[in-house]
Amino acid sequence: MLTQGYQPHTITPWQRALCMSLLDKVEVLENYARSVRTVTVAFPVPAVVRLRSHYRPRPHGVRFSRQNVYLRDDHECQYCGKECSQSDLTLDHVVPRVHGGTTTWTNVVACCKDCNRRKGGRTPEQAGFSLRKRPARPHWNPMSFSYRLPQRVPDAWRGWIFE
Ligand SMILES: [Zn+2]
Repeated sequence: MLTQGYQPHTITPWQRALCMSLLDKVEVLENYARSVRTVTVAFPVPAVVRLRSHYRPRPHGVRFSRQNVYLRDDHECQYCGKECSQSDLTLDHVVPRVHGGTTTWTNVVACCKDCNRRKGGRTPEQAGFSLRKRPARPHWNPMSFSYRLPQRVPDAWRGWIFE
């Protein structure tokens, strides 16, 4: 899905894109070769759509969530640098909550379960750990698009998402 200004906006299931096009909320720019049928009508499956109305970014930036912390940190443990699958990652409070650490963008990082266990309820200094980068609120613009691209980008998307 592209913004009204043709910038990549998000990846959405085609079912949703089709619904939005039927509601005239998006303009279909590209279809896949296949179509879906109801009893009476066939619809081409949309591949690239463009929002008809102006997209307003969230006023307070990217929402803090487990998923978004993982995305910000590239699914890499921020202590040992290991790239992990979602199930091997956890969230670590840099300054532990018992020491007054907050659950915020600047105090929570992606962490592998090993490091998390070894660090325990200590600060990185106490545990002899160092952070690979200083955690901050991400500034994805407009959202985490490049992180979400599938391994195989459909041909129909090319020309719309790459320069
Ligand atoms: Zn680790």
